[in-house]
Amino acid sequence: SCILAIETSCDETSVAVVKDGCEVLSSVIASQIETHKAFGGVVPEVASRKHVESITNIIEEAIREAGIGKNDLSAIAVTQGPGLVGALLVGMMAAKSLAFALNKPLIGTHHIAGHIYANRFVGEIEYPTMALVVSGGHTELVYMKEEGSFELIGRTRDDAVGEAYDKVARALGFPYPGGPHVDRLALEAEAAADLPRVWLEADSYDFSFSGLKSAVLNAVNQSKMRGEDVPAGAIARGFQESVVEVLVEKAVRAVKQFGAKQLLLCGGVAANKGLRTALTDRCEAEGIQLTIPPFKYCTDNGAMIAAAAHLKWKRERQDPLDLKADPQLSLESWM
Ligand code: ATP
Ligand code: MG
Ligand code: FE
Repeated sequence: SCILAIETSCDETSVAVVKDGCEVLSSVIASQIETHKAFGGVVPEVASRKHVESITNIIEEAIREAGIGKNDLSAIAVTQGPGLVGALLVGMMAAKSLAFALNKPLIGTHHIAGHIYANRFVGEIEYPTMALVVSGGHTELVYMKEEGSFELIGRTRDDAVGEAYDKVARALGFPYPGGPHVDRLALEAEAAADLPRVWLEADSYDFSFSGLKSAVLNAVNQSKMRGEDVPAGAIARGFQESVVEVLVEKAVRAVKQFGAKQLLLCGGVAANKGLRTALTDRCEAEGIQLTIPPFKYCTDNGAMIAAAAHLKWKRERQDPLDLKADPQLSLESWM
């Protein structure tokens, strides 16, 4: 199969062509980060407008780069949700128009299933498997008993990890998105600030990062009130160590309890060097097979959407042309 996928759920306009769910023929990603930086975060109306401006060219570019003809495509996939409704609508309209004009099946796809299936670019997925999803809007442990089944066994009760990273970065004076800045600072720092770890109930796979975030903001404010320099490095390192310890611990426990054959890390925060290293080391020590997508497929991209859409394509499941974008689309029932 040869699936063209469109991803516009947030601030990346991305289109990719992927063969057989795992071979990326082209992947075009136009980031709006520079546009949103001035506002310190993503402005939904601006995101929509930017998607509209660039989507047509990006589709053409993805097809050209793939070196195929439009009629060689097997299906048109699109992120149906979750995401910003106005942003999703742009991708949805483009996908429907293309599917209609080329007379190809339309496949609505879940954004987080996409993040998870970015791991298909590394190798086959063996079930049962466990995914640790860490992104700008989600922090979840997803158990996949078999292909196409998604069970949410844990989720954040407040902030997502990426969101916490962005807020901490902002408090330390870094622009949006701040995750990579905190990551770099944390790895360079010689000392770590003492910050809390939030485990919740002993058997819970849920997460909570708002208390940690508040502790960071307090530490920053206290330094400022005392007229001292903010120990940004130590704070970044303390924050990252707390986040990483909790994520690694819960993911490893989940893999063992559910008897998963693999652990799949994914989402924008999977680009975090501290997390990648800590999880790699721990999984090696525990004999757990860990997969992490290449850096460029950790943050939002169309290729991952094509990889997830392939699950539906294999089952000959296509969607009607009146498919609706759904900002709250459920992972457990999208297939
Ligand atoms: P979602 O997928 O939940 O809808 P999103 O699509 O906005 O949210 P992603 O694109 O998956 O999120 O990831 C973006 C997030 O990843 C941002 O919060 C960003 O700060 C974070 N991030 C990117 N690189 C790093 C890094 N090296 N360390 C920590 N966080 C990072
Ligand atoms: Mg993004
Ligand atoms: Fe995402």
